[in-house]
Amino acid sequence: MKQGIITVMALILILAPGCRNTEKADIVISGGKVYTADPLSLKAEAVAIRGNRILAVGTEKEVSKYIDPEFTKVIDAAGRTVLPGFNDAHAHFGPLDPDYIELRYVTDPAVITARVKEQVSHSQKGQLIYGGHWEHEMFTTREWPSKELIDPVSPENPVVLRRTDGHSALVNSYVLRESGITKNTPDPFGGEIMRDPATGEPTGILKESAMSLIRTGEIKVERTAGEEREREWRGYLMALKMAAGYGITSIQIPGSADFDMYDSIMAHGKLTCRLDIGGELTADPVRLDRYEELRQKYPSTGDWIRFGYLKDFMDGTLGSATAMMFEPFNDEPDKSGLPQMSYEELEARVLAGDRRGFQIGIHAIGPKANNWILNAYEKAREVNGVRDSRHRSEHAQILIEEDIPRFGALGVIASMQPVHCITDKRFAEKRIGTDRSRWAYAWKSLADNGARLAFGTDYSVEPLNPIEGLYASVTRKDRKGEEGDGWFPMEKITMEKAIEYYTLGAAYAQFMENRKGMIREGYLADITILSGNIFDIPEEMIMSVKADYTVLDGKIVFEREK
Ligand SMILES: [Zn+2]
Repeated sequence: MKQGIITVMALILILAPGCRNTEKADIVISGGKVYTADPLSLKAEAVAIRGNRILAVGTEKEVSKYIDPEFTKVIDAAGRTVLPGFNDAHAHFGPLDPDYIELRYVTDPAVITARVKEQVSHSQKGQLIYGGHWEHEMFTTREWPSKELIDPVSPENPVVLRRTDGHSALVNSYVLRESGITKNTPDPFGGEIMRDPATGEPTGILKESAMSLIRTGEIKVERTAGEEREREWRGYLMALKMAAGYGITSIQIPGSADFDMYDSIMAHGKLTCRLDIGGELTADPVRLDRYEELRQKYPSTGDWIRFGYLKDFMDGTLGSATAMMFEPFNDEPDKSGLPQMSYEELEARVLAGDRRGFQIGIHAIGPKANNWILNAYEKAREVNGVRDSRHRSEHAQILIEEDIPRFGALGVIASMQPVHCITDKRFAEKRIGTDRSRWAYAWKSLADNGARLAFGTDYSVEPLNPIEGLYASVTRKDRKGEEGDGWFPMEKITMEKAIEYYTLGAAYAQFMENRKGMIREGYLADITILSGNIFDIPEEMIMSVKADYTVLDGKIVFEREK
């Protein structure tokens, strides 16, 4: 009898055709410069993927044995950079507006004409055509656009296209007419109607307060509930497509979002990004109960839609002078920021959330805001006991020197958005002075003092493109590549570290570093191939790097068209 069983088993082993294939890869990426973010082995030449996992990482020779010419898809990375998929640790991700004309990164103004024409073609007469994020400094002409660019394709629709900073807009003749703006209209206070130097006619560019003159006379489109739902669905898919196009495979949404919608997208097989969705920090036991239910339904052991952390706001922003400072702002000496709650309330909320085992992430821009939340997190350890809580400072933007080592000591994650540094530095120093700026966006000092860092974008405040964050981390220069060594260059980090915080660091911030964030055997196969070798190009070239492939859970979810 025993003999018989062994014979049958041996026969199965010999006959089963699948058995030999278990060592064959579905996908092999070869010929690239693989940066694994794995501290045990940071560099490799090739990666093999089977199912949703990484099968092997190593030299070309080591990985080539997993290639079955009839079975394996081989991607030739051709010297390009291969990375773990980007994980945006702080993005207000959600549906896009399907009718919004996105003009970011447009270099050829003719694209604007084409996009408006396309949108007009499926709009009704009189319906508003809108969009923005164009930047004429990026145009090959470097000239302000004018209404002539859009008039021929929009004779019967109002068009309003805002500049990337939102401080000026391009409108067509339809809008100028509806607004009553002519060559005789004076510039309003604090604004400018740009005019043709020869004729004095408005060019279609309205700056600052001149935008308040805009009257579109638009015709509102009535939609049925079904049409609205279809439109929203399309908006979500567009957003997911955008993320995949940037090489992003995971996003951590601060605060709440629509779990049901993402469930539905997942059920339709269209979820192309892993998502953490959170809740609002509260001391209310009933609301905490509700979050416990969500945590059970979307557990941290999952790999797709998971309940993230409880979010709160300690202060406002530097731009609006509401960041909490110990001393007043230099340029507004009567202000030192606006706490969003008392310290007692903060501590009560932190203690309640921590006691239930939730991770907590609090928006903290100013040094006093960061000091308070560190104090509250420290208190939670004293009262509730020390555990692997990984509470977070969302932004950790401006600190006092004494608080820098406390992040590491208390196990508090600095969840930072490097792009804020290069956007804000223009006015940061004016507002808080040089001494206080020294410890602003201080990612190098935080890391050197034992803090765990997680990088993100704060989309949609900033673009979702992670490349901008990498550029900001290593240069601390504005997007045009100003002269010099960068703003507080002692805080610059290497490209390797910047990528680590955008992959492994972000995975750690969501307790997933045991299966995500590195290219390591057995890890989830989330991989990005960039268009160039981002480690060896001059810094002024970094911003032009794009994602060429995005692999999520072992499947190619984005491939750039050639
Ligand atoms: Zn945010």
